[in-house]
Amino acid sequence: MGKASIGLDERIYEYLLSVSLREAEVLTKLRQETDRHPARIMQISPEQGQFMALLIKLIGAKKTLDIGVFTGYSSLVVALALPEDGQVIACDRDPQATKIARRYWQEAGVEHKIDFRLAPALDTLDELIAQEQTGSFDFAFIDADKRNYPNYYERALTLLRPGGIVAIDNVLWFGSVADPEDTDKRTAAIREFNQKLHQDNRVEISMLPLADGLTLALKR
Ligand code: CA
Repeated sequence: MGKASIGLDERIYEYLLSVSLREAEVLTKLRQETDRHPARIMQISPEQGQFMALLIKLIGAKKTLDIGVFTGYSSLVVALALPEDGQVIACDRDPQATKIARRYWQEAGVEHKIDFRLAPALDTLDELIAQEQTGSFDFAFIDADKRNYPNYYERALTLLRPGGIVAIDNVLWFGSVADPEDTDKRTAAIREFNQKLHQDNRVEISMLPLADGLTLALKR
């Protein structure tokens, strides 16, 4: 994600942050360190993190999934919002970026809430399903490789309880999904995924133009 929420100019974005952002110091530090990472564009924005923390509290979530960890901001913001006995199962296959993540989880004192699985996320999700954890999760955040979105989504939906929410990141893909000239494979994958979700009667949906586009799907 670049700087501002999609379609918001810099001035309005700065205003929005100035009157609403309440970011824990450890999150700010992590964001500043990630800003120096070559793949920094993969980090979620702070107002999106704050929104996700609010959602966690709103639905009283305890058991959550973070699919795509990178340097750990989303896992950390969720873990900080969870009750003491809450849990994030954090899935990522990148040992380097997640080394940064683990350092910050520890610094924030929420390491005990985060069960990190260094493996392809699909393997971890299939393992959870095989362990009969179906229907036991309250919240899932999907922000990993875009071509696997339908696979992550199906598994997340299986693992969620009715009334649980899956949040899917980058659904506007910097606006490219709306450009018919853009035939990039990842753009096409997100476009197809959005269309599929629009027709999916198993969930209630809302697509928010927050950050790079965030769709919420509530399991019926
Ligand atoms: Ca993202």
